[in-house]
Amino acid sequence: MAESPVILLTNDDGIHAAGLVALRDALLPVGKVVVVAPTAQQSACSHAVTLQRPLRYDRQEPDTFSVDGTPADCVYLALFAERFLPRRPDLVLSGINHGVNLGTDVFYSGTVAGAREAAFRGIPAIAFSHDLGDQPADFTGLAEIAREMALRLLRTPTTNRWAPLLNVNFPRGRFRGARTTHLARRIYKDRVISRTDPYGVEYFWLGGRPVIREQGEGSDVDAVNRGFVSVTPLALEAIDSAHLPVAARVAAVIETDRSALEVDA
Ligand code: MN
Repeated sequence: MAESPVILLTNDDGIHAAGLVALRDALLPVGKVVVVAPTAQQSACSHAVTLQRPLRYDRQEPDTFSVDGTPADCVYLALFAERFLPRRPDLVLSGINHGVNLGTDVFYSGTVAGAREAAFRGIPAIAFSHDLGDQPADFTGLAEIAREMALRLLRTPTTNRWAPLLNVNFPRGRFRGARTTHLARRIYKDRVISRTDPYGVEYFWLGGRPVIREQGEGSDVDAVNRGFVSVTPLALEAIDSAHLPVAARVAAVIETDRSALEVDA
């Protein structure tokens, strides 16, 4: 593209997170980069948007704004408030998240939701996440790779009626290459931990350690476990055609013609 690209960045770890700062720094030489990100940690907020209270923002630095909301709020606000961006962005990036977003976790992920909010509006988007090991993460190196992937997406024509939404996960340490993947199922055990607070009242804590099952060949979990960068194209059209007959059977309950209950079982 002749004009230099406008790129919007967000995340769910908060505006000061190292992964976001590294991504911004890596992108600054290649375009107009605007950061609109949550003031505080919002991990696992999924695609929540704030409708019951006002949203407030702070200009932290030029082109860097914190919002007291979710990643989806940030992208929504940036796209429509006409105060943050010089024009509609060419690309929206979310991350680099501190921790992976693999398999069915993409439905819980605030990082992915920030990117998805843009893709809903027809803007290509990538969510980046990193499997943090015991060593301090090299976000600088990863951000340079993320930048190259982002530029490549900008130069890639797409024909689908939905904008592309990519979920990228970097494994720990040095990686062996990259793989396109599908989503693994990721199942948690010890889902609810029950304790008693100092006043004798029971409370709960959700989420135990992940148990990776059905990691199956070709899945994102499998790729990251084997040291590859995983790149998954996520669908925005969340329907399961295979279950249309099930839906038809349920819908038939309200048919006045009782014979409709006989739709293929
Ligand atoms: Mn996070």
